[in-house]
Amino acid sequence: MATCLWLRSCGAPRLRSAPPGRRLRPRASRPAPAAGPAACPERSSLLRKWYDLMIQNKDDLAKIITAESGKPLKEAQGEVLYSALFLEWFSEEARRIYGDIIYTPAKDKRALVLKQPLGVAAVITPWNFPSAMITRKVGAALAAGCTVVVKPAEDTPFSALALAELANQAGIPPGIYNVIPCSRKNAREVGEVLCTDPLVSKISFTGSTATGKVLLHHAANSVKRVSMELGGLAPFIVFDSANVDQAVAGALASKFRNSGQTCVCSNRFLVQRGIHDAFVKKFAEEMKKNLHVGNGFEEGTTQGPLINEKAVEKVEKHVSDAVSKGATVVTGGKRHQLGKNFFEPTLLSNVTQEMLCSHEETFGPLAPVIKFNTEEEAIAIANAADVGLAGYFYSQDPAQIWRVAEQLEVGMVGVNEGLISSVECPFGGVKQSGLGREGSKYGIDEYLELKYVCYGGL
Ligand code: ADP
Repeated sequence: MATCLWLRSCGAPRLRSAPPGRRLRPRASRPAPAAGPAACPERSSLLRKWYDLMIQNKDDLAKIITAESGKPLKEAQGEVLYSALFLEWFSEEARRIYGDIIYTPAKDKRALVLKQPLGVAAVITPWNFPSAMITRKVGAALAAGCTVVVKPAEDTPFSALALAELANQAGIPPGIYNVIPCSRKNAREVGEVLCTDPLVSKISFTGSTATGKVLLHHAANSVKRVSMELGGLAPFIVFDSANVDQAVAGALASKFRNSGQTCVCSNRFLVQRGIHDAFVKKFAEEMKKNLHVGNGFEEGTTQGPLINEKAVEKVEKHVSDAVSKGATVVTGGKRHQLGKNFFEPTLLSNVTQEMLCSHEETFGPLAPVIKFNTEEEAIAIANAADVGLAGYFYSQDPAQIWRVAEQLEVGMVGVNEGLISSVECPFGGVKQSGLGREGSKYGIDEYLELKYVCYGGL
């Protein structure tokens, strides 16, 4: 096996280990981007082997996700496939990192643009997709030639460690994919070390906007490259022209996946007056028919527990705040009898913008419906947020589809579609939902540095 695969063996220092009980002393400055080309067939084939091993072990990996996060097994199986696909996708992208030749007016010069790996990337991930949030970052980083230090969420460390075992089996050399699991108590301290150590060139984070801001502060001192996938407040707009059955199917899919605990989950349903009553009635019927709360390992469960009791308290607070301000509980509305981490899938109508659930991410199984009259009003409500990750709308009017898709202040739009994530497409947000894009042909750029070479004397 060629040794010049990752930047640690291309001249830049590898991560060092501190003696037990002692912290690493930061280096004076971080290493320069590695010499040598970014594109690399050997890295490609190692990533592909890692992907193959994930597929071979998909049932065990799914059980690990359900055990650590509570996610229903069927969803966990879906996550494992989605997660593995990032390794496959970036194994292909690893061979397609191109530079440029630029012709300038100077006849005796040529300008080249090289792409080189950034260096060591610190990867901090959340608990809601314990596997996919890692491979979406690590696949791109390793394909680019970076090495990674992953700090998984304290609630879900096991998928990250299982991935490490499979990376070893795939032949990825030691020191390339590193994992630092930590407790809730020291997550902050470990995060700070990762984000301030000058040896680290890049921070890639998925989590809350509040934590993202803390990490941006940490990153500022040594001017690190950052990618941030932060919170959302996704609007789901149903216009009068929509097909109500399609809209309800999309609403169920986009709201209740992972019990409402994804950053692209619809947070606010904006429904036009003419279709409002039909939509609410059908949505409630379909929720009762299709959503089954239970243990994630039990056949037929579609709604597992929330990640912890704090998450349940937040949903409860959003419901009680809305009801106290005039919202109506159409279905659900309270904790589920199964236990302290369960909440009933809940539909509220007569919701207004003054209620907490209209301007704070719920991250739970609550669907609040706001009635509106005109397209302008819907756009204004949808854009009245300081975040903008995903947005969805249902309409059968082509002119309206273009208008609304262009005006929504979000990074990703679902038109007549409630599930939008795919490895081939760029994932990311605008405003305070983040910086950068993951997946797709763009994702690898987050781990590459451009170097301009002016070649004179020709
Ligand atoms: P949530 O509130 O949904 O748990 P967070 O943004 O707090 O989301 O957590 C996402 C990830 O960020 C987790 O891995 C967590 O350990 C980590 N984290 C939380 N606070 C900090 C911090 N101050 N510094 C570094 N990492 C942190």
